[in-house]
Amino acid sequence: MIAYGRQSVNEDDVEAVAQVLRGDWLTTGPTVTAFEHALEALTGATRCVSATSGTAALHIAYAAAGVGPGDEVVTTPMTFVATASSALALGAEVRFVDVEEDTANIDPAALDASVTDRTKVIAGVDYAGHPIEIDTINETARRVGALVVEDAAHSIGSTYKGRAVGSLADLTTFSFFPTKNMTTAEGGAVAALDAELGQRAHEFHFIGLVRDRDRMRYPDEGPWHQEVHEYGLNYRLPDVLAALGLSQLKRLEAFKARRAAIFARYQEGLAGVDGIRLPTRREHVDPIWHLYPLRVLGGRRREVFDSMRAAGVGVQVNYLPVYWHPLFEDMGFKRGMCPNAEQFYAEELSLPMHAELTDAHVDQVIDAVRAAVGG
Ligand SMILES: *Cc1c(COP(=O)(O)O)cnc(C)c1O
Repeated sequence: MIAYGRQSVNEDDVEAVAQVLRGDWLTTGPTVTAFEHALEALTGATRCVSATSGTAALHIAYAAAGVGPGDEVVTTPMTFVATASSALALGAEVRFVDVEEDTANIDPAALDASVTDRTKVIAGVDYAGHPIEIDTINETARRVGALVVEDAAHSIGSTYKGRAVGSLADLTTFSFFPTKNMTTAEGGAVAALDAELGQRAHEFHFIGLVRDRDRMRYPDEGPWHQEVHEYGLNYRLPDVLAALGLSQLKRLEAFKARRAAIFARYQEGLAGVDGIRLPTRREHVDPIWHLYPLRVLGGRRREVFDSMRAAGVGVQVNYLPVYWHPLFEDMGFKRGMCPNAEQFYAEELSLPMHAELTDAHVDQVIDAVRAAVGG
């Protein structure tokens, strides 16, 4: 079976992890700091905070943004459930805005029409690695006094108008799950443009501990003293995994180039085939392609999915519209609410996409698609 997504771990990555295991700091040590600084250098963000997963990163970002009961988080249904469910964890209400019918990213015009003065956060997702229309979205957010969280689980290394993902929104979240563009096994990070938001993110992921003497209520308690002012969790990524992340970051450009070559090979090999539609890219973005989201037309997605799997090609579907999950359905969300997202879901089929696919694998996938839709 050709895997639809998987990690690329080489001997340098293994050695980097082994070195930390032999050292003094398994967690809360210098490799975590080095990884966070490397993420800052890559993204141009003021402060990066590493975390135990992309889901944790979203929870941290929403907490840093001050999301709570009575607030509204406006987001896209075309994402992994965590983008929306992490906001529920803080007691917020979630509102879904439909996606653009081609990129499957949140529609900036529909978004602008949907925000209210209760909107605390707008959460967009760079679906497949293609950045959201951030300039328009930031304008909408400013108009209503909301913050923007960019869920960049798919898009570390992408750029928008020449600017790096991580420097575009108030807060950006990453995931380092093995199928993503780079991995720490489990892991994630939050990038903040504003130092204060970054500090809030840091404290929430570190049990809420305050160690800055100037901010302490009881500064003269003693050198051992630390205080908790607001609720926090332990979402710390250990040094062992930060070492893998740091090593993988050095390979990110190579991963991006390989993914771009695979994307181009699919585009060329599938051009002109009837019954399918190929992914689009806006001129002003340079994505790292996390997914290759093919569209299967004519109600044949399931049939093509089954015959691809039978042919040994690990295809996947990304994603069930979030409000179709029983969690959201039971809250009263109804099918039909976001027609573009539902249509996209009905047609979408993610072809294998990862840095270790060979050209021969890609050609085998192309042949399997042609056989499946042609037959
Ligand atoms: C993978 C993913 C997440 C969650 O990341 P985990 O590291 O798996 O918790 C969140 N949002 C999107 C869009 C994702 O693809």
